[in-house]
Amino acid sequence: MPAATEPAVVARTRSVPKNVLIVGVGGQGVIMVSKVLAVLCQEQGFEVKQSEVHGMAKRGGSVFSHVRFGEQVYSPVIPRGKVDVLVALEWAEGLRWLPYLNQRRGTFIADTQHIIPPFACRNRNRGAHSAYVCESVSEVMEQVPNSFALDAVGMATELGVPRAANTVLLGILSAALDFSAADWQSVISQLVPPKTVEANLQAFAQGRDWALHFDRESVKSACVGLLRNAAGNLDNVADLSRVEITEAWCKGCDICVKFCPERCLQLNARQVVEMVHAERCTGCRMCEWLCPDFAIAVHTPRLPYPATVRDNNELR
Ligand code: SF4
Ligand code: SF4
Repeated sequence: MPAATEPAVVARTRSVPKNVLIVGVGGQGVIMVSKVLAVLCQEQGFEVKQSEVHGMAKRGGSVFSHVRFGEQVYSPVIPRGKVDVLVALEWAEGLRWLPYLNQRRGTFIADTQHIIPPFACRNRNRGAHSAYVCESVSEVMEQVPNSFALDAVGMATELGVPRAANTVLLGILSAALDFSAADWQSVISQLVPPKTVEANLQAFAQGRDWALHFDRESVKSACVGLLRNAAGNLDNVADLSRVEITEAWCKGCDICVKFCPERCLQLNARQVVEMVHAERCTGCRMCEWLCPDFAIAVHTPRLPYPATVRDNNELR
């Protein structure tokens, strides 16, 4: 069995600020990851500067947060090429921010989940190719030696807490920074909702354990297999998508009905949303992102590694 590759630990030298950039899309929990890290660094006696853009939260738009810590930190913004650890909660967002990473010495941690924004669907026909990024995990791993890609949502779903994917990534981040697991766990317990402490600590432990036993070569060969066999076939994503509506949580605000690009939804006589055209649903997740009450969940098949559509994407 090949040897596991542990993340390079970012040294805890106080004199030089350490730079961590966390990116994703609205609703994924980017700000929670950033907050846990910032509070932890403060508790450890570092000066911390944090800046974030989260205006698109809950709308599926880009969200990012810079966290810098050290003995003295002058600017809250990390210059291009100076990020020590880039944590991406969504694959395309990770690639978009890759130029900010110090690719020779920095660490790239990414969830391989795809969230294809509706505006990337240039052709709205069911199963049509999207304009999503083409780079595969194995290509990125070749480019960035210290990179870690995994299906964090799948891992969290197996634990029964799909929304704790961000905590799985915190576990991986913890293996790349020089703080003790107990310190991380203490801050997570303070910041997550009380009812979810146990689930989040489990997700954290799972992510940390995965990082400490990461096997780079087997991940790369799995990616090559997927590229050849599945090629990110978006037909399957549309065909296998399923919209789950929790009626008790729906307040009939009509937002999802108005914003569904395919007009799949409507309010019934009880003013509760229902699916009326499942055959049109493309699995774009717009309804899930926009529902203010988390009453909709869109289940799409997991693509464990984004081999994507390099071989057959006519839009390239
Ligand atoms: S029902 Fe939801 S996932 Fe399906 S097309 Fe409409 S907005 Fe997209
Ligand atoms: S957005 Fe949410 S609360 Fe509003 S109608 Fe749709 S499911 Fe119900």
